[in-house]
Amino acid sequence: MRRADSLPAMAARIIDGKAVAARIRQEVAAEVAKLDAKPGLATILVGDDPASAVYVRMKREDSARAGIESFHHEPGGDVSSDALAGLIRELNEDDRVHGILLQLPLPGHLDQDEFIASIDPAKDVDGLTSANAGLLMQDRDEAMVPCTSAGVMRLLADAEVELEGARAVVLGRSILVGKPLAQLLLAANATVTHCHSRTRDLAAVCREADVLVAAVGSPRLVTAELVGEGAVVIDVGTNRTDDGLVGDVDFDAVRERARAITPVPGGVGPMTRAMLLVNTLRAARRAL
Ligand code: NAP
Repeated sequence: MRRADSLPAMAARIIDGKAVAARIRQEVAAEVAKLDAKPGLATILVGDDPASAVYVRMKREDSARAGIESFHHEPGGDVSSDALAGLIRELNEDDRVHGILLQLPLPGHLDQDEFIASIDPAKDVDGLTSANAGLLMQDRDEAMVPCTSAGVMRLLADAEVELEGARAVVLGRSILVGKPLAQLLLAANATVTHCHSRTRDLAAVCREADVLVAAVGSPRLVTAELVGEGAVVIDVGTNRTDDGLVGDVDFDAVRERARAITPVPGGVGPMTRAMLLVNTLRAARRAL
């Protein structure tokens, strides 16, 4: 009989974020249709970053398809701090607006943290204000959770990945992705190890993971050597390279070791967009 380690490797199941996101969009649209008034999402695009422009356009299209009214603002890259603060104040006070999305990054002359902090936490559909981060830290259901992290959790749930007692390793500790995701995994009773650029013996730490999430921004950093046999691998990274859009995971090599894996594109990205609709619906339900 052949030993297990000499058996031909089985390719991992691909977790299809596009399909899950499409289902979520339909669910949101059905729920929106039941409301007495339309939810409203305000988007603010400052400057002329082409990637940001594409993201905002897609988010507005998603909203329109789900029956969410879109209030779009493009104040121009040279907008003053006072003018941007004034716009956010107006949107905070506008009853038709239930969610405010300030597309990041902002141009260098604007203090990103100051503007995030000025968004009404009840309309903070990106979940970036201190109020929502604090609620998340306290495992409170009313926390508005950052869309990408919420999307990763929905993907794991949809793929029926057991998190109770599982060893989860998160690469990346940004406020946008890594930190909220580690918090959510912890709340789901995973045992969480949080890695970053100063982590020693990264490969050894990662190989212990039952669930490995890469949110780094480094093309194909996660090679097969970092992945334990049978792990579930979630790739948040979106890196524009000469080969096109690639993730933080070396997909082809890792697929031979993992049990399940998300592709880039078509994995976490569509979930981020879908969860923005979910957050906007939640914000609207609370206000309407
Ligand atoms: P970020 O703010 O730049 O954070 C990157 C994190 O990775 C930092 O915590 C950094 O550690 C860590 N890191 C860097 N090099 C590392 C290494 N060699 N080993 C281990 N950790 C390392 O990035 P982000 O905003 O979290 O985004 C991460 C990636 O996700 C990017 O590719 C971004 O485009 C993508 N993203 C995708 C979506 C989506 O919808 N798919 C949404 C958001 C972001 P230090 O803290 O020590 O510097």
